[in-house]
Amino acid sequence: MARRVLILGGTREARLLASALLQQGHDVITSIAGRTSAPTMPAGKVRVGGFGGSSGLTCFLADERIDIIADATHPFAAQMSANAFAAGRDCGIDYVRLDRPAWRAGEGDRWIMAQSTLEAARILPRAARIFLTIGSKLAHDFTGRADLRGLIRTIEPLREPVPETWSVMVARPPFTVEEEASLLRQHRLDVVVTKNAGGELTAAKLVAARELGLQVVMIERPLKPRARTAETVEEMVRLVSDQAI
Ligand code: NAP
Repeated sequence: MARRVLILGGTREARLLASALLQQGHDVITSIAGRTSAPTMPAGKVRVGGFGGSSGLTCFLADERIDIIADATHPFAAQMSANAFAAGRDCGIDYVRLDRPAWRAGEGDRWIMAQSTLEAARILPRAARIFLTIGSKLAHDFTGRADLRGLIRTIEPLREPVPETWSVMVARPPFTVEEEASLLRQHRLDVVVTKNAGGELTAAKLVAARELGLQVVMIERPLKPRARTAETVEEMVRLVSDQAI
């Protein structure tokens, strides 16, 4: 049965999901936050910008006669997922989520887990030279510690200036293991700091860190509402189509 689906996007999986659902005959609107300059647009209808919290989303769901919310936001987009879950519950509309598997430490990895960026910044060894790949919003948690230095890599330019002891690089994934290893060596970095985003596009830095014997401070994912979840786009298509996975 064709359904009217609101995809909450901002990820590669959300774009793949839009194409796959359209192919199956569903009526799809993808919503993106509109933070990225020149984002790659998904197929089908797209709306851009916040809804105005869960109450704004509730109105949108009613106005657009949405049957199901397919949350394919990034694992760290906790606010959007919480709002979507609440709006779905209030409107009696199904909410399902695509949770891409988290990265797991393997043999040879030297990971230290942190619950938040603040904790990550706190537990870093004194005078560490770090490779910071946590997005453009929270770099100040690290640059505020005068003994730390290193390289900050973001997809979007940083909003605030950083002390000149830091190098800054704007680049878009994917990256190869060779590229990551070369960056780590060139900047003489000794700790990689990252959020546990999961996925293949940005995993090369973890392999490079393992090969060079470097520590990784891994920031754990925020909790998202308990819901029916899929791990892959294919599973998510089945969930949206109300089939067992
Ligand atoms: P967030 O903290 O969960 O959301 C903050 C607010 O941004 C939401 O309350 C909502 O505003 C708006 N928003 C977020 N996603 C939206 C969407 N798909 N459509 C419409 N509005 C949206 O999210 P975030 O961490 O800032 O991430 C923003 C977007 O970037 C997400 O869509 C996410 O998938 C993508 N992204 C995030 C990360 C990351 O590391 N956090 C990485 C890659 C991509 P209203 O309350 O006004 O509705």
